Amino acid sequence: MIRLNQVSVTYPGGFTALHPTDIEFRRGEFTVLLGASGAGKSTLLRCLNYLNVPSSGHVHVEGIGELKRRSALLAHRRRTGMIFQQHQLIGRLSALRNVLTGRLGYHGTWRSLVPLPPEDQRIALQALDRVGLMAKALERVDSLSGGQQQRVGIARAIAQRPQMVLADEPVASLDPHTSVQVLGLIRGVCAEDHIPAVVSLHQLDLARQFADRIVGIAAGRVVYDGAPAGLSDLH
Ligand code: ADP
Ligand code: ADP
Repeated sequence: MIRLNQVSVTYPGGFTALHPTDIEFRRGEFTVLLGASGAGKSTLLRCLNYLNVPSSGHVHVEGIGELKRRSALLAHRRRTGMIFQQHQLIGRLSALRNVLTGRLGYHGTWRSLVPLPPEDQRIALQALDRVGLMAKALERVDSLSGGQQQRVGIARAIAQRPQMVLADEPVASLDPHTSVQVLGLIRGVCAEDHIPAVVSLHQLDLARQFADRIVGIAAGRVVYDGAPAGLSDLH
């Protein structure tokens, strides 16, 4: 589905946060990138949609080919749902308009006097329904709880009709109960739609509970790749 070949990232200043890595992510698989803060999880995750451009190697996406031409990159980004730690929502806009930014871009939703395209609106409402927030569609996002805001972030990713979901520490600012709820939601959506999810976490217990596959990262290298059960061998 998506494959990294010898991908490495050296930041300006000379620090190599990801050493040359070969790794593949497959359909329907819920993969957790597990590692301590600073291990290189974000760096690897952001290579999967070129928010980080690899310093070496290449990224190959099924149905698109190698990500190097701008057109391939834009097509890939449109098909990739990204969920962030701080959800990156616009607080003063409604949940519905935030979800629509995933389809229309920010400019498409900011001008509140312009009527929203009905088809996009229907898809956005459907996405909010899937995360259980239909009733909050017209409420300002800054009036919602942290867990609800993250669910709006998930709905925004779903509304893109993604071929892949990437989530960078999506539960880092949530309490344990809400974390379980949010991870369960991401996992359920990706299983139903048969798309891969790659989710970075630093909590071993949550990784064990949700992952089909755990990729352990330490100091910019993959140090484990396999079933959650096998991970106990390392400790
Ligand atoms: P994380 O939550 O993944 O640990 P950080 O809080 O370390 O993220 O980093 C937040 C932002 O700062 C990211 O965009 C990251 O790329 C950038 N950043 C992190 N470390 C450095 C650094 N040493 N020099 C410059 N930018 C950095
Ligand atoms: P994680 O997501 O596992 O917390 P990151 O991928 O954010 O780790 O960061 C890995 C390492 O790269 C850290 O040491 C961080 O400080 C460094 N780093 C991240 N972003 C930058 C950046 N933009 N410039 C320089 N160093 C960075």
